[in-house]
Amino acid sequence: MLSLANKGLLVVLSGPSGVGKGTVCSFLKSMNPGINFSISATTREARAQEQNGVNYYFLSKDEFINKIDRNEFLEWAEVYGNFYGTPKAVVEEQLVQGKDVLLEIDIQGACKVKESYPEGVFIFLLPPSKEELRKRILGRAADSPETIKKRLSCVDEELAAINNYHYVVVNDRVEQAADKVTAIIKAEKCRLSRNQDMLLNRRRSIID
Ligand code: ADP
Ligand code: 5GP
Repeated sequence: MLSLANKGLLVVLSGPSGVGKGTVCSFLKSMNPGINFSISATTREARAQEQNGVNYYFLSKDEFINKIDRNEFLEWAEVYGNFYGTPKAVVEEQLVQGKDVLLEIDIQGACKVKESYPEGVFIFLLPPSKEELRKRILGRAADSPETIKKRLSCVDEELAAINNYHYVVVNDRVEQAADKVTAIIKAEKCRLSRNQDMLLNRRRSIID
């Protein structure tokens, strides 16, 4: 297991489909140029406008399974009938280099990451209401009616996982939600436990 003390911050943002994770992340990217956003692999079809290597790495099921067999994922999960996974090598390299990394992943994936990286910061993005969540999933108009039904049927179970997280942010207005996530990241970077090396150096320089 990789210890994250004095390494980059691993931030996990998750929540139900359609809550606005992708939208909030777009804001976060412009507000926090220092954060690296992990690009996941998936077996789902690319939506219109989505680009391979930008939104996701779009893989066939065989390619994805080969990567599982080679232990190339930090975590992976079957979500709404497709496979999704976080490429391990890039994320670990960035963390070791002291860079902050944000994973936008589903609830099962977040649970797995928390087991291996308990020092990570786990943020649950909550919709203002179930009705608004429904409207957002339908309004996105990016998925088939069958996929939308599947996603909506998972909402209650997904909301029940909230106690596994450190923070909850309601995505009422995108800018405010992104501001709150940014504030959480700033505060977490000031934690004593994440600044032990810096403190030691300061003490030495004061004594010397
Ligand atoms: P997720 O990544 O969680 O599945 P998206 O970011 O794709 O969700 O957002 C789903 C839909 O909801 C999109 O059409 C998006 O424009 C819309 N949306 C996201 N955040 C908000 C918000 N705060 N208020 C209104 N609509 C939003
Ligand atoms: P979408 O198909 O709407 O892009 O994503 C569906 C769900 O899969 C979302 O909840 C999204 O956060 C999640 N997801 C995206 N990438 C990953 C990943 O690498 N691992 C896991 N576990 N979930 C992911």
